[in-house]
Amino acid sequence: MEIKYKKCTKCGEEKEVSEFHKMKGCKYGVRNTCKNCMKEYQKEYQKENADRLKEYQKEYRKENADRLKEYRKEYQKEYQKEYQISLSDGYIITQLRNRNPNLTTEQIRANPELIRLKRLAIQYYREHLKEIKK
Ligand SMILES: [Zn+2]
Repeated sequence: MEIKYKKCTKCGEEKEVSEFHKMKGCKYGVRNTCKNCMKEYQKEYQKENADRLKEYQKEYRKENADRLKEYRKEYQKEYQKEYQISLSDGYIITQLRNRNPNLTTEQIRANPELIRLKRLAIQYYREHLKEIKK
């Protein structure tokens, strides 16, 4: 059986076909690039891919940081909404009545200044509590 040779398009060396990976449709049924060059190519490719992967991960983290920030903002908005709801007149009146059981809802409602002051007191207390927690 005669030994067939093929010139590698990469390194330009003429090598036995056994030095090439099989590939249908190519001359002698092997690739145009020798095994050695393929190995080099794959190493190069993997290195490039590792770089790309690293770049992708960095990009992903950056994107996620934005999403996380967005999420936090969204959360804060929701929290603030809830915070405001919890400071509705109804809530303030309940708070006032807990402290002053002899006051009726009607009496409190007739005195908006009382509600306003109580709201400010609760707001101040909460802000203050937040500061302490920090
Ligand atoms: Zn080669």
